[in-house]
Amino acid sequence: MTDADFDRRHLWHPYTNVMAPGPTYMVEHAEGAWITLDDGTRMIDAMSSWWCAIHGHRHPAITAAMKAQIDHLPHVMFGGLTHRPAVELGRRLVEMTPEGLDHVFYCDSGSVAVEVAMKMAVQHQLAAGNPGRTRFATPRGGYHGDTWKAMSVCDPVNGMHHLFEGALNIQYFAPQPPVTMSEDWPEDDEANGVAALSRLLHEHGDQIAGLILEPVVQGAGGMRFYHPEYLRRARKLCDELGVLLIFDEIATGFGRTGELFAANLAGVTPDIMCLGKALTGGHLSFAAVMASGEVARRIGSGEPGLFMHGPTFMGNPLACAAACASLDLLADGEWRDRVAGIARQMEVELAPAKALPGVADVRVLGAIAVIEMDHEVSADRAHPISRETGVWLRPFGRNIYAMPPYILSPEEVGQVSAAMIRLAEIL
Ligand SMILES: *Cc1c(COP(=O)(O)O)cnc(C)c1O
Repeated sequence: MTDADFDRRHLWHPYTNVMAPGPTYMVEHAEGAWITLDDGTRMIDAMSSWWCAIHGHRHPAITAAMKAQIDHLPHVMFGGLTHRPAVELGRRLVEMTPEGLDHVFYCDSGSVAVEVAMKMAVQHQLAAGNPGRTRFATPRGGYHGDTWKAMSVCDPVNGMHHLFEGALNIQYFAPQPPVTMSEDWPEDDEANGVAALSRLLHEHGDQIAGLILEPVVQGAGGMRFYHPEYLRRARKLCDELGVLLIFDEIATGFGRTGELFAANLAGVTPDIMCLGKALTGGHLSFAAVMASGEVARRIGSGEPGLFMHGPTFMGNPLACAAACASLDLLADGEWRDRVAGIARQMEVELAPAKALPGVADVRVLGAIAVIEMDHEVSADRAHPISRETGVWLRPFGRNIYAMPPYILSPEEVGQVSAAMIRLAEIL
């Protein structure tokens, strides 16, 4: 059996039928923005491999840090022991995240980070004398991961998990924030969505531990950009009602929107913030949950005085070393001009797509570019076209989108824009 046949018959890929898989392509190696297939085909990874590889693949500074760490201490348990990579990463995260998020919990993936954040919120409320506050509020249109508690706060219809509805906790869904990033913020709270959120939180506040949302960019739920003012108003409502505000920055963190964190677009500090995806520059699975001093103090003062979570591979030194190297690459701020440059160029280059038949909307924010169609588009149909255009794109729902590495040259950005338009013409 060839490797490709074995893959087809035995391996599940994300969201696939192992008995009837779609096409997959064998990657031989990757470097910078480019991935190379076993037949020599080269493609720009315009997905940053699901939004992670912000500096490109196999960045020499990150692989050097990983190699040095492997020869030193690839892993050690985090219970009762610590190590320099964990401390060094913690320093950087406390320093770079919004003021007040002073406490770090390391875990293995984005979904687990969301689980941890939700557990923190429930323990916080217990310690604050609110044992009835075990549920969560969230706007529709969100995506927070594939594990159980994370699934429960994904959009109940298009969040990929409606199948499990009966098995999930009942959570409270507010309407999707109605005002987009490019619109003016209307003062009328019925029009801007704040009134609906306020009603929901007032009505069920005594049961709600936290409000969890993806700040500004709803990613896998639909690639929608909403107005940052919504977050300022959400912060105010949460403060009034004793609801914790949880930002899931797993997709938006580390420069993707043009700011280091989407929270910075609103100037809002959440109580808890989830980080993942680009944390290691896409070199290893890793995540972190940042919590405010208030949340950490409360949890510590409650029963049993401990935060009740601790994964086997917590604080893995290799992942911490990769993350430190990735964050160091962001430290000089050069990413800012690069992301702004990508945004400017793609806005111009994708504008003509607005006139294409079947295109509903075109939008760009930072290094996120979306052509939204008025119909569903098939990733399996897109992939053979990717081989022709030399740009790896994986559309989902109605969205043909790119979230490329920040390192693309203007020529490469042009190639990505052209490939997106070609997909919009064909799909
Ligand atoms: C990808 C993603 C997650 C889940 O992260 P995994 O590493 O896939 O578990 C959670 N929230 C958001 C916003 C994401 O984009």
